[in-house]
Amino acid sequence: MTSTDNVHQHEIHKFGSQAQRWWDPDGEFKTLHRVNPLRLQFIHAFTEFEGKSFVDVGCGGGILSEGLARMGADVLGVDLSEDLLDIADLHGLESGTRVKYRKISAEALADEQPASFDVVTCMEMLEHVPNPVSVVRACAKMVKPGGKVFFSTLNRHPKAYLLAIFAAETVLRMIPKGTHDYNTFIKPSELGRWAREAGLDLLGMEGVTYHPLTQQFNLGRDIDVNYLAAFSRTKD
Ligand code: SAH
Repeated sequence: MTSTDNVHQHEIHKFGSQAQRWWDPDGEFKTLHRVNPLRLQFIHAFTEFEGKSFVDVGCGGGILSEGLARMGADVLGVDLSEDLLDIADLHGLESGTRVKYRKISAEALADEQPASFDVVTCMEMLEHVPNPVSVVRACAKMVKPGGKVFFSTLNRHPKAYLLAIFAAETVLRMIPKGTHDYNTFIKPSELGRWAREAGLDLLGMEGVTYHPLTQQFNLGRDIDVNYLAAFSRTKD
C-alpha cells in the first residue's frame, strides 16, 4: 500500500457532502462541537499551546483546529476533503481565527516534514481509514522527539455499539445514520500497541461519556465507548 492508498473515498465523500452544515452547533456534527471543550481540556493537561506548532490530522471543517489556535497554538489542519477544507478556510476568515489548511495525507506530510511539529492531534479519524496503523506511524513520524501526539477514537466494545451506534444514530439521532461501522472501532490496547511500536509512549487515556438525561458530556475513567489518548515521542 502506498501512502496515497490509505483512504476510503466513500468516507471523504460522506463527510464532504455535509460540509455546509459542519459549523451548525445544532446540526449533524453537534457532537463534535459539544465535546470540543473537553478535547481541549484533555490536550491542555499534557501540553502548552502558546507558540507551539500543531498539526491537526483529519481536521474536517476545523472545529478542533480553531479551538487550538484560539488557545494560542500555531496550527496546520490537514484533511483529504476539499469541501471540508474550503469550509474550514471560510470559517476561519469569518471567525478571525488563523489556521493554515492543506489537502495532504498524514503519510505524505510525514514524509515531507518528519520530526517537525511540537504536537500532533488526530481525532475521530482513525476509524474512518483502511489502515489506521499507517496513520499512527505517520503521526509519530511528523512529531518532534519529545513532542506530543493525541488520538481519539471509538472502542470496539459492545457498549460502544449500543451507545455510539444504536443510541446515537437511531434513538437519540445525535449523529447521521451510517456515520460509524463497529468493525472499524479500535480497542485502547490496540491503539496502545500500534503507538508503542511507532515509538510513542502512553501518557494517559480518558473516556468521553454522555448522560442522556442531563445531555452532558464528561471526561472520565470509562473508556468503553469514546476515548482520548495522549502519547509522547521517545527522544532518540
Ligand atoms: N478531526 C475532526 C473531524 C472528524 S470527522 C474533528 O474531530 O472535529 C473525520 C474526518 O476525517 C473527516 O474530515 C474526513 O474527511 C477525514 N478523513 C477520513 N479519511 C481520511 C484520510 N485518509 N486522510 C485524511 N483525512 C481523512
